[in-house]
Amino acid sequence: MEGVKLTGALSAAEAASVFPPNERAERGPVAVIECVQQIPCNPCEKACPFGAIEVGPDITNLPRLDLDKCQGCGLCLSKCPGLAIFLVDASKSATEALVMFPYEYLPLPAADEIVDGVDRTGRFVTKARVVKVDTGAQREGTAIVTLAVPKQYMHDVRSMRLVAPGEVFLCRCCEVSETEVRQAVREGAKTVVAVKMRTRAGMGLCQGRTCRRLISRVIAEETGQSPADILPPTSRAPVRTLSLEALAGGDDNE
Ligand code: SF4
Ligand code: SF4
Repeated sequence: MEGVKLTGALSAAEAASVFPPNERAERGPVAVIECVQQIPCNPCEKACPFGAIEVGPDITNLPRLDLDKCQGCGLCLSKCPGLAIFLVDASKSATEALVMFPYEYLPLPAADEIVDGVDRTGRFVTKARVVKVDTGAQREGTAIVTLAVPKQYMHDVRSMRLVAPGEVFLCRCCEVSETEVRQAVREGAKTVVAVKMRTRAGMGLCQGRTCRRLISRVIAEETGQSPADILPPTSRAPVRTLSLEALAGGDDNE
C-alpha cells in the first residue's frame, strides 16, 4: 500500500510545503492554502479581492498564494468548499499565535471558552482559547472560529473540539466521562486495562462491549498510536454459565 493515500489529511511534508515562512506569520495574518490535489476548483481565486490567489486558466492547477499580496482578510476561508484554507497570525503576541479556520459543527464555541485544539486528523494538540466566533449568519456562509494557541503549535492546530467535562460518558455503565479517560491516559494509563484500573471504565454490566473501542480511540489520540495497536482488554467469562444441552435446545422453560 506504499504511496497510497488512505485519508484526505495532508501529510506532514505536504503541510510543511504550503505553510508560509514563520517570519511572514510574524508580520501579520496570512492565508495557509492546504490544497494539494489537482481537482477542478477555483472559488478561492475569485474570492480574493487583492489578487493574492492564482489558479489560472487550467482549473485543475493548484492555487498559488502571493504572500506579499495577501492581507490576511480571511475572505477566502469561507469560499473554499474543501475547507482547505486557514489563516495564521503570529504578530499579536510573543507567545501565542492566532489560528482562524472554517468550522462546520454545532454547537459553536463561545468567546473565551477553553477548547481542545486538534490537528488535521482530529487528534488533540493543545488546549486553546477561543478568541472570536463569526457565526457566518450575516454573510450566509460557514462559521469561522479564531483560536489563540501557543506559537509552537500554530503549524498543527487546524480545528477544535469542545470540552464538555462530565457530559460525554464513554463508559455508560460506570458513568466514566471522556474527560476522565483522557486525564487517566495523560497520567500514564496507556492501555484499556490501565484505564479500567484507574477509572472503572469497562467494569460495568456490559463488560466494556460499548466503551472499549472508544477508550482505545482516546488512547490512540492521546499517544499518537494507531487504534489497531492498542491492546484489547481482558474479557471475563459470562456471568451466568449455560450448559451445552441448554444451548442445543431442550425444554422451552429451561
Ligand atoms: S486572506 Fe484575504 S488577502 Fe489573503 S488570500 Fe485570502 S482573500 Fe486574499
Ligand atoms: S477553493 Fe479551496 S479546494 Fe478549491 S482550489 Fe481553492 S483552495 Fe483548493
